[in-house]
Amino acid sequence: NTPAASEGSNAHLFTEHDEFPLKVADDYQRYHQERTAFHYFAKKYGNPYNPTYTDFSKPGFTTVDHAINMAAWDLCDQLNGYSSNTGFDIGLYRWDNPVWPQKHQFENKQDAANAIKRTARMFGANLVGITRQDDRWDYASFLDAVKGEVRTWDDFPFKPKTVIALAIESDYEGQSTAPSLTNDGIIGEGYARMSYVAYGVAAFLRAMGYHAVASGNDLGMSVPYAIAAGIGETSRMGLLVTYNMGPRIRLMKVYTDFDFVEYDKPKTFGVRDFCERCKRCADACPSKAISFEDKMSLYPHEGHDAGTNNVGIEKWWTDSKKCLQYWNDSGTNCGTCVTACPYNKPDFWQHRMIEKMNSLMPGPLHTFMREMDIWFGFGDTFDEKAVAKFWSPEGRKYDGRG
Ligand code: SF4
Ligand code: SF4
Repeated sequence: NTPAASEGSNAHLFTEHDEFPLKVADDYQRYHQERTAFHYFAKKYGNPYNPTYTDFSKPGFTTVDHAINMAAWDLCDQLNGYSSNTGFDIGLYRWDNPVWPQKHQFENKQDAANAIKRTARMFGANLVGITRQDDRWDYASFLDAVKGEVRTWDDFPFKPKTVIALAIESDYEGQSTAPSLTNDGIIGEGYARMSYVAYGVAAFLRAMGYHAVASGNDLGMSVPYAIAAGIGETSRMGLLVTYNMGPRIRLMKVYTDFDFVEYDKPKTFGVRDFCERCKRCADACPSKAISFEDKMSLYPHEGHDAGTNNVGIEKWWTDSKKCLQYWNDSGTNCGTCVTACPYNKPDFWQHRMIEKMNSLMPGPLHTFMREMDIWFGFGDTFDEKAVAKFWSPEGRKYDGRG
């Protein structure tokens, strides 16, 4: 298989797996989209969620920060309506785009995978992996909170065989300003680009005669699909952690009836071991929504609100209601956990050096790396200087997008 991730000379740090690398319970039940915390809050506060600001004096919350936030979400809404987190079959995520009547026949499946991955990179994907469609990761039903519509896979225009998992990098300096309106602009920009990139890949497949639909957070869960496609690992904070960008990414996917027969495999590079000792995200989380338990488990530990969680799959448990309540109370999309994560940091030599040491001597060295990360000045609380740096002429210095 073509490498899904840009592993480069660090390929030896990755372990490839034949099976999905997390335990799934025998009685695992498919999840319904309406159970997500976004739907819970849409019911509680209405959708679109649109807080009003009155104090524009704080760094990260000035009228300029407000404007970049509004501009990014305006663009996203133009592309996808007001349903970025709850919607489906809308804007660039529509289901009914025409398919070219003649099917292109590739020489072999490897050529097909190469062409699709090259196209995805051309549209701006940083990571691409191709995996088989899996009922376990697809929502049993979909609910659009704005339109009030519920649909199921019976309404979908074709039977998908394949899911193409895609990741795009978020702006490092913008992310460093979290929680702020500046960072919310980065998130909105990411949501806009998610649909742009996924639509481009889906349109490419349709132009070759195959059904294909772009998907953001709708249709199915992006994290297990991204794990299965080999582009990252799960983490304590519940987000996908990638090798080069950590959790500072946005995920999207494309459903298609193109059958690849051979697929990318899951790959791990030590995130699970590292998260067991790190816990920086849990320390930094202002709403205490992230578990401090040492080990992952199939079901939530006692006292944990499992209301919005998808149970029966091995993970660390987060409390999405606490998380989104903080978003509502702070008037931001927070993101402090992402900023705190050592894997989020750009590819500075000291991180890779420590990582190589970790692969030789795990355990206490993970704790050492966590301390080194702090020692090198990577904080995890709101920092006015980060906002000033984002807006300075030298901004974007560490952004991998060039
Ligand atoms: Fe906690 Fe903020 Fe991360 Fe939510 S986004 S889990 S509130 S740090
Ligand atoms: Fe894992 Fe640490 Fe990142 Fe949290 S901050 S996801 S514990 S590596």
